[in-house]
Formats: sequence, C-alpha cells, structure tokens
Amino acid sequence: MATIISYIALGSNLSDPVQQVITAFDELAEIRETQLIARSSLYATSPMGPQDQPDYINAVAQLSTNLLAEELLDELQRIEQIHHKKRIMHWGPRTLDLDMLLYGDMVISSERLTVPHPGLKQRVFVVQPLLEIAPELILPDGTKLASLMKQFDCELIPLESEVST
Ligand code: ATP
Ligand code: CA
Ligand code: CA
Repeated sequence: MATIISYIALGSNLSDPVQQVITAFDELAEIRETQLIARSSLYATSPMGPQDQPDYINAVAQLSTNLLAEELLDELQRIEQIHHKKRIMHWGPRTLDLDMLLYGDMVISSERLTVPHPGLKQRVFVVQPLLEIAPELILPDGTKLASLMKQFDCELIPLESEVST
C-alpha cells in the first residue's frame, strides 16, 4: 500500500475547544500506519449557521498514511466518538469534528466519503490553516490553494501558541 498524504480539518466549539483540538492532534498522531507530519495554528472562528452557539476552534493536520481512505475515515470517526462522550447536548454543537479534506490527489465519491471535502474551497477556517502548512498545495481539480484566499473578506488571526520560541 502506497503512502498517501491526507489533510484533516479539526473543529470544536464545546467543552474547552482548545484542549479538544490539542488532544485530537495527539490522537491523530496515534492512528495505526499513520504519521502526523504537521499541525497548523489554532484559529478562533464564528460558527457557520446558527449564531447562538460558542465560537469554534479550527485547525488542520497533515498526515502521512498507509491506510485506505475509508479506513482512515473509520479512525477519524473513532476519535470523534471518544470526544463525543463529553457531549452535553443532544443535537447540539459537537466537541470534535474531523473532516477529511484531501486524500492524496484522489477524488472519492462514495456513500460515506466525499473527497475533496465539499466545503473545503468555501471555508476560510479550512483554507487558511491548510495554506499555513501546505502553501504550495494544488487541489485535484488544478486549483491553487493560495488563489482561494482572495474570496474572503478578512484573514483569521491565529491563537498565540503557548510555547514561544
Ligand atoms: P460538513 O461536512 O459540511 O462540514 P459536518 O462535518 O457537520 O458537515 P457531519 O455530521 O460530521 O457533517 O457528517 C458526517 C458524515 O459525513 C459521516 O457520516 C461521513 O460518512 C460523511 N462524510 C462524507 N465525506 C466526508 C469527509 N471527506 N470527511 C468526513 N466525513 C465525511
Ligand atoms: Ca465539518
Ligand atoms: Ca464532519
């Protein structure tokens, strides 16, 4: 099985979202046959849709994996489940959302999996952290990731990292 680079979007707006996302990075690093190559900064963003919920913390991870796309999705959903145990409200905002943005340059359309993720190009909280860790990235349809930023009104400001160098 070839090694594939995959990018994962992380999002949380419940139960200490910063900690949820930091923990999720560690859990991504523990996935079998997979390495965590890079992690973006954390970004605080307003919620999509209903505004009567807390702000989100968003970030993107770069993985290198020997898993098939659907196997990797299984692992992402397993990690979501661990965090979902802390969910306090049914149907409410989630403690952790893990979306597979890209899986190599593959285009996948199955019952469980649409890759590239359909929201990728329209969401500043995905494009900007992705750009931070993959500035030269070109999407499977030939779009340069960097060209997507100009559609957004403003850039997100990354949270200050706790570890200053
Ligand atoms: P959005 O996908 O618009 O960000 P969401 O993340 O809130 O919305 P979920 O409720 O988390 O949507 O959707 C979960 C379902 O999406 C899962 O059942 C999963 O099979 C499916 N899915 C399809 N494509 C992907 C992908 N690229 N990454 C993660 N889940 C996906
Ligand atoms: Ca999502
Ligand atoms: Ca999701």
